[in-house]
Amino acid sequence: MYKIVSIPGDGIGPEVVAGAVSVLRQLSKKHSFDIVIEEHAFGGASYDLHGEMLTDATLEACRNCDAVLLGAVGGPKWESLPHEYKPEAALLKIRKELELFANLRPAKVYDALLDASSLKADVVRGTDFLVFRELTGGIYFGQPRGFNENRGWNTMIYELYEVQRIARLAFETAQKRKGRVISIDKANVLEVSQFWRNVVHEVHKDFADVELSDMYVDNAAMQIVRNPKQFDVIVTSNLFGDILSDIAGMITGSLGMLPSASIGTKHALYEPIHGSAPDIAGQNKANPIATIASIAMMFEYSFHKPDIAKEIEQAIEATLAAGFRTSDIANRGDNVVSTKEMTEAIVSHIGT
Ligand code: NAD
Repeated sequence: MYKIVSIPGDGIGPEVVAGAVSVLRQLSKKHSFDIVIEEHAFGGASYDLHGEMLTDATLEACRNCDAVLLGAVGGPKWESLPHEYKPEAALLKIRKELELFANLRPAKVYDALLDASSLKADVVRGTDFLVFRELTGGIYFGQPRGFNENRGWNTMIYELYEVQRIARLAFETAQKRKGRVISIDKANVLEVSQFWRNVVHEVHKDFADVELSDMYVDNAAMQIVRNPKQFDVIVTSNLFGDILSDIAGMITGSLGMLPSASIGTKHALYEPIHGSAPDIAGQNKANPIATIASIAMMFEYSFHKPDIAKEIEQAIEATLAAGFRTSDIANRGDNVVSTKEMTEAIVSHIGT
């Protein structure tokens, strides 16, 4: 039995999460496993109900389940709140509280969507890599931090255990893929990066079957755009990963296609990388694929069922190959379908 906490959130969140839940229910029928899906409020929806973005009850539920599925949070309604009440603050808090230290973002190009990339089809065809971004350390959390009229400052700091655990996860994952890890840093300038590099190489000694190389972050930004096929697994710090995973994501096409997983030792959270898209919320227009592909990651990384993960990915591929397009991935002349129609097509490709 799998116990999943579902957090629809705000804007298009409820629509795309409903799509992912339909996929989960279909898989549970097809493979005869039980799932319990418990819904909780988070973000603006929670603020409106309880006066806070993340309640203790939601956090407790997230601690007591096998995986969390999150839609998206935020929107214009809550933008004028003080910083500590904003959805972004709640997102940082949930990651920190659940100790979700690794953010995984695949950059995978679907053949049917080669035209959606801003790069030439020849450059992106066959791209399939995974970015491991350290999520709970580095400059976003380091102390001291602050600013006054004359200066602003933040601190980029990494503890030994923080680098060890993400490096280990990246090497273990590479063993199940093409066996290549590239660690990205700025060791020519930053001491913290030299430390990162030393630790990654130390951890690598336990993974003789994985090839490790290093790359400076400025070169990496260029290489991802120049020749994305050279990458298999990338591992990098919070700040560099934030930027590189967005570059990596966009070469594959639309925001509506990109899933993510945030993983810790005990907990894991799966969510599309897009936001709550207030401009199309409630219109049955949102692309549910990023959220459905996040379910595939859930089966891979939390439930250790790579076959089911593959089944979901194949159903997405087959649906795209059959010509189904939500408006964000449609070209002129394509038949545009709704969130629900896209979901139903994927569910029917999963079959019974
Ligand atoms: P966004 O990702 O919500 O939207 C950017 C553009 O992409 C919009 O035009 C939107 O319509 C489109 N889009 C996004 N997802 C789509 C989908 N599944 N299908 C079709 N089109 C899609 O980013 P934004 O507009 O900068 O932010 C809107 C709100 O979302 C803000 O309040 C922001 O703080 C929040 N946000 C939340 C998260 C999160 O919950 N993790 C992430 C990013 C932004």
